[in-house]
Amino acid sequence: MEGLDMKTLALMSLLLGLFLGVGSLVFARIHSSFQGFRALGYSYLLFSFGFILLAFRQYLFDFLSIVVANLTIVAGFSLLILGILKFLKDEIQIFEKVSIVLLGVMSVAFVYFTYFQNSVNARIIIISVVIACFSFFAGYKVLVNRERAILTFTRFLGFSFIYCAVIFLLRIYFTFNEAELNDVMSGGTIHAISLIALQLVTISSCFSLTISASQQLANKLAIQATIDSLTDVYNRRAFDEFANKSVLRAQREQTPISMILMDIDFFKQVNDQYGHQVGDKVLQEFSLRLKNSLRQYDILSRYGGEEFTLLLPDTDTSTAMIIAEKLRNTIAQPVFCLEDGAELAVTASFGVATIQGEDIDWQQFISLVDQALYYAKENGRNCVKLYDADLHHLPKTNNIH
Ligand code: GH3
Ligand code: MG
Ligand code: MG
Repeated sequence: MEGLDMKTLALMSLLLGLFLGVGSLVFARIHSSFQGFRALGYSYLLFSFGFILLAFRQYLFDFLSIVVANLTIVAGFSLLILGILKFLKDEIQIFEKVSIVLLGVMSVAFVYFTYFQNSVNARIIIISVVIACFSFFAGYKVLVNRERAILTFTRFLGFSFIYCAVIFLLRIYFTFNEAELNDVMSGGTIHAISLIALQLVTISSCFSLTISASQQLANKLAIQATIDSLTDVYNRRAFDEFANKSVLRAQREQTPISMILMDIDFFKQVNDQYGHQVGDKVLQEFSLRLKNSLRQYDILSRYGGEEFTLLLPDTDTSTAMIIAEKLRNTIAQPVFCLEDGAELAVTASFGVATIQGEDIDWQQFISLVDQALYYAKENGRNCVKLYDADLHHLPKTNNIH
């Protein structure tokens, strides 16, 4: 610990601020949907600039190397917290105002303790109080944020801020009790550790925010890949995967599995008569009614245009028929009331198929239920038809998958 050299640490902070600052600004440009990265980038650059001024102390006026340098570092710290609050979509106005007032008070105090009563210790205590308060505040704000998507980020960053706050409190304590320093760059271990704590916050904020942003992007992508954007139910791709797994499981466990395929009747007429947008609203209302009637393990998907599938694991033929009939009623009974006051009656046709022990895969299963739907359409629509296995002699499975 004794070997820690303040000048080397300040140089490292300078480089760190420069690289992370440019990196964050580039990130902000590429991913403009995330708030806070621009503030973060500028905050690191401010740190860097502050450390340049501190490092060139002997070549610069006191005003630049003391007053401006320290104010720049504190302004950078406050901008860092502002960036994080923006990223968390948290309230920033109060913090902004408090920061401006604190910076004003600090500049007066720094001028006083530089030109009227020159004291390095007093200046260290002032800056440490501000950084400790800011750190506690930021740590608290980050740790109480309970958004699940950014849990990794909150823990890591929150604790580095708390750590930073504690180190700066210790720094205040030691500076109070030590002899007057000539220059902060020749200060002892606690000053070096404080600088390292600042570096830790710099690194952890940059990494945590980028990790969190990438986590949020991955979640968004996963949703987009499996959910139909118009109706908010599973899309065909997700359904195919569920169907494949569920059929294999049902065959392994020798349990029945049913599927319902529904298709809105004369939907083309709805589009032709009311327009495509009303057609879209009908699809949304249709899927909402279905969703509200589902059991916990049923899997609903929009299989294409105005066709929806419902997978019913562990469900036999008679239960599937009761469910299909209930859904047919749910769709057919009340008229569809759309936002713009339009009211229209819609019906749908339903095909049902159940397998238990048959040696067929999920694609064949879908083709069975498709045939049942075809019968329903042929039989006047707005009705439920069951695929009749006896007519088609499905092969029974002998082996357990
Ligand atoms: P049937 O009773 O035989 O099923 O008649 P239909 O008119 O429903 O069947 P058809 O397959 O001829 O028409 C389906 C229509 O669904 C045609 C297409 O324009 C419409 N459609 C498909 N996807 C969408 C969509 O996302 N939004 C809207 N508004 N219409 C869609
Ligand atoms: Mg269709
Ligand atoms: Mg149709």
